[in-house]
Formats: sequence, structure tokens, C-alpha cells
Amino acid sequence: MSSIFTRIIKREIPAVIVYEDDLCISFRDIDPKAPQHILVVPKKEIKSMADVTEDDELILGHLLVKASEIAREQGISDSGYRIVINTNKEGGQTVGHVHLHLLGGRQMEWPPG
Ligand code: 5GP
Repeated sequence: MSSIFTRIIKREIPAVIVYEDDLCISFRDIDPKAPQHILVVPKKEIKSMADVTEDDELILGHLLVKASEIAREQGISDSGYRIVINTNKEGGQTVGHVHLHLLGGRQMEWPPG
């Protein structure tokens, strides 16, 4: 069974897409936790950061580079933003397909909840 994010990649369910290339897709979170809440998702269906191998080095680097570019395009680079990758149950992960949260447009708190 494809992940919900793979279904977005295949256009089986709609999303507000902000960026896409051969390796990743980026779209707005359906339930935003900040004025800007964008997900950056590899097209390869990796379940979680706990399943990453050395083969994923290029993909994971690519996600970070694209997140930085998207933040610039969305105008949150100078003000600042947070990148989060929730991992497995105690990490708060709810969708079993690696994704990076790009959150901005408000002051972030530390430590996170
Ligand atoms: P996680 O909790 O796994 O770190 O993050 C999953 C994120 O995916 C959540 O912030 C949730 O709001 C978002 N999400 C879940 N289902 C959908 C969906 O169908 N469309 C979009 N755009 N976001 C989704």
C-alpha cells in the first residue's frame, strides 16, 4: 500500500505543491502548525530516518538543499525557520514516509514539546 505522500506524488490525492523535481516533491501541510508549513518529501518511499542507509545520502542532502531554496522563495530565510524530521512513535511521526517539515513565519520555541 502506497503512503499518503506517494499518493500525492502520483496525483491520486490533491495537495498545494510548491516544488517538484525528479527526487522530491514539496507541498503545503494540510494542518499547518505555523504560518508557513511546507513538507519536503523524497519520491523514494523511505519509511523513516531509522530506515535510512548510505544509499540515501544524495536524496537526504537534496531535501535539505531544496528546503533552503524553498525557504528563500517563501520569504522566511532572513526571519528564520525550523526544519524538523519526526522519527517513529516517540519522535511524533504519523506518516510512514520520510519527510522534512519546513516551519516559519512565527517565533519558534525551544525546547520543542
Ligand atoms: P509527521 O507527524 O509524520 O511528522 O508529519 C506528517 C504531516 O503530514 C502532518 O503535519 C500532517 O498534517 C501532514 N499530512 C497528513 N496527511 C496529509 C495530506 O493528505 N496532505 C497534506 N498536505 N499533508 C498531510
